Amino acid sequence: MTTHALNYEVMIADLKQVADKFISVNHFKVKNAEVILQISDSQEINARVYLSASDQYIVRLYRGVLESCLSFVEDTVDSYYPLVAAQTHLDRETFLRATCSCVTEYMFLHEYCHVIRGHINYRDFRKPLWVERPELELQDIRFLECDADIYAANFLFARTYSVFKDPKVAIRLCDLMQCYVVGIRSMFEMLYRVSEVEDLLHEESEHPHSLVRAYIAVCMGVSGPVSECLDEDAEECRALAMRELLSYEAFLYKDRPIDPGFLQSNFERELNIWTTREQDLVFFNLLKVQKVSIFTKAREWLRRSKRFTRDSKIQTQP
Ligand SMILES: [Zn+2]
Repeated sequence: MTTHALNYEVMIADLKQVADKFISVNHFKVKNAEVILQISDSQEINARVYLSASDQYIVRLYRGVLESCLSFVEDTVDSYYPLVAAQTHLDRETFLRATCSCVTEYMFLHEYCHVIRGHINYRDFRKPLWVERPELELQDIRFLECDADIYAANFLFARTYSVFKDPKVAIRLCDLMQCYVVGIRSMFEMLYRVSEVEDLLHEESEHPHSLVRAYIAVCMGVSGPVSECLDEDAEECRALAMRELLSYEAFLYKDRPIDPGFLQSNFERELNIWTTREQDLVFFNLLKVQKVSIFTKAREWLRRSKRFTRDSKIQTQP
């Protein structure tokens, strides 16, 4: 799949290419607006999205956070590779690059989901309530962050699966799912390590605890709303994701294991809040998914059959 070794420029090129699959294609449309991806040169460890004009949203990812992702992959994920080298069919460079692509794509998708799930309008709608009941502000923001995490993981899963279905790529599902899980878990591990005070402040923070977010994302990514649209492989993906998450966790936390009681109680609490409130966002949804037209499907069929005929001729030549 990949040939160039990972570096900052390669990482950004990969990110732009996958982001384009969401923001520049005809079948995904944001109602009455466009989405633009900007890479800022600032060293901030951050990403954000905002309405830049009445018909334009900007997703901005900062060099600081992107470089942190890259170093995490080059150090930690690289050290993990020898443990999986006997099972994966991906060589070290491809494994690192595909995993890094999942990390940055997830980060982009989290911001993109703030747009398409209507979070910006929902916040404006709820703001008057915050005056009377200030405690609602933090609750609303944490709910929206959880929603963005869940939908980002769903879209990343759908795209990972589409790579598996692409006949030009030919990568095994288990190898792709490994990069998917290691990518998501790595992104949250990186945020956790950068924060340093999260264990003390996560209750009052705008985001739930990073480790809890990682588990919600991986779990809901393979069993949430988008995955329900996939075919019979979804169940296998769930099993692969669980196995890989446990394996990678054992590697990450050999010196400092996660407290399972903390993880379970916070996981259930955040997911309960999300489940009871998720329907509130239905009216704010901005994504229009257009079906691929019959003409487009027919043209794709013709293109593939021409290639098949040509390849068969090459193979049958004496
Ligand atoms: Zn967010």
